[in-house]
Amino acid sequence: MKYKHILFDLDHTLWDFQTNSLLTLQELFDELDLKRFFKDFDTFYSLYEDNNLHLWADYRKGLISKKDLNFQRFNYPFQVSGYEEPELAQKFATEFVRRSPLKKELMPGAVEILEYLKPKYHLHIITNGFKEVQDVKLEVSGLGKYFERIFISELIGVQKPDVYFFEYTVRSLNASKKDCLVIGDSFEADILGAKNYGLDHVYYNVNGEKHEEEVMYEIHSLEELKKILK
Ligand SMILES: [Mg+2]
Repeated sequence: MKYKHILFDLDHTLWDFQTNSLLTLQELFDELDLKRFFKDFDTFYSLYEDNNLHLWADYRKGLISKKDLNFQRFNYPFQVSGYEEPELAQKFATEFVRRSPLKKELMPGAVEILEYLKPKYHLHIITNGFKEVQDVKLEVSGLGKYFERIFISELIGVQKPDVYFFEYTVRSLNASKKDCLVIGDSFEADILGAKNYGLDHVYYNVNGEKHEEEVMYEIHSLEELKKILK
């Protein structure tokens, strides 16, 4: 076998981040009766989502703290709609962080492919995120049992695609670069990071988006990994 260590991204590669976030947002929108402030869930969601992406970009640049990121993403929809509801926004923020990792939706074929790979390879997680959140996701979803090591950006101190993230991971495994294969859904975080450090990689292009980038392997479903990892 060509590889010894398989390094899986977690969010939106194995754990269905989008569905699980949406389920949690919808649940809290209803519970906190936010129809008092917003026409419907979609109105609230589009305000949230736009700004959330900006805030994450700021967080990655070190411009805002984790605490501010979490509060501001929920406070923004209120503010921009002309309401001052910081307590409600804080409650939403706290509950969102507590509840979304408890959701269990996985990407199609996730368990099947892990069952297939587990006897053959050392499996590890490489993820950008917060330790307390990612640990809960792995445990509650049942994914945790497939992995030997969990590498989390918050603990390493840098996020993918920073080369140090990958260097740290490979060194911690006492592995050589050629023994490792990175699998992830984010071209920017997973694939560019792997390329820049010189690791083989599989781009899980979930939505089949068109691109001009050169990648080593590209798949549209997790099942296709069986062709690469025999
Ligand atoms: Mg991802």
